[in-house]
Amino acid sequence: MGKQTIAFSVLVDELQRHYGSPAPPPSTDPLELIIWENIAYLASDERRAEAFATLKQTIGTRPEQILAAKHSALAAIGKAGILPDISAEKLLAIAKIAYEEFDSDLRTALKKPLPQAKKALKRFPSIGDPGAEKILLFTRSYPVMALDSNGLRVLYRVGFAEEQKNYSATYRLVQDAIREQLPRDYDSLIRAHQLLRQHGQELCKRSKPRCSECPVRDTCNYGRKV
Ligand code: SF4
Repeated sequence: MGKQTIAFSVLVDELQRHYGSPAPPPSTDPLELIIWENIAYLASDERRAEAFATLKQTIGTRPEQILAAKHSALAAIGKAGILPDISAEKLLAIAKIAYEEFDSDLRTALKKPLPQAKKALKRFPSIGDPGAEKILLFTRSYPVMALDSNGLRVLYRVGFAEEQKNYSATYRLVQDAIREQLPRDYDSLIRAHQLLRQHGQELCKRSKPRCSECPVRDTCNYGRKV
């Protein structure tokens, strides 16, 4: 059981009061979201967005367009991150899987039952369960509460679950703790995902969280102790 003293919906409302309306997802297309994850390793959101815009303008995001591109052109875009050659290889691998296994259109696969839809997404580089859930949410395929590492950190620090040594164990514990409190509609779930992520990036950072500036400190398990 968690030790949280704030309801999930109140937490999200407080974050919106502090940060304002969250940014929309970078795309609602499943293949573009997979490309977004892989286009530039460890790049900031801004650098990633620039790389993604360049790919769209100069090469395109269709599998056939990426497969026809030169490796050097893809690597030049991947320079927004720290491993451009590997990012280029990942884009080519994504295009190949999408073209050969999904006829270049993932939307049909995402209409399948949830386990199969997740399995299809996990065929692609860098997409595990959390990434697959995020794509299912952003494409409005399944109303799941996807959490990235920032959002997860906020929730276990607030007190929804104890952090475990294993990331996926923590992810599941937090998911179990919030399940009964979750909104059911896509807009609210996407809003919660984006605000929790923003809070984890800006104040509830991995090291040296800025608890003294946090709008939910009084109801945070971690923040009350520091
Ligand atoms: S009080 Fe600190 S630990 Fe708690 S949510 Fe805010 S920033 Fe994170």
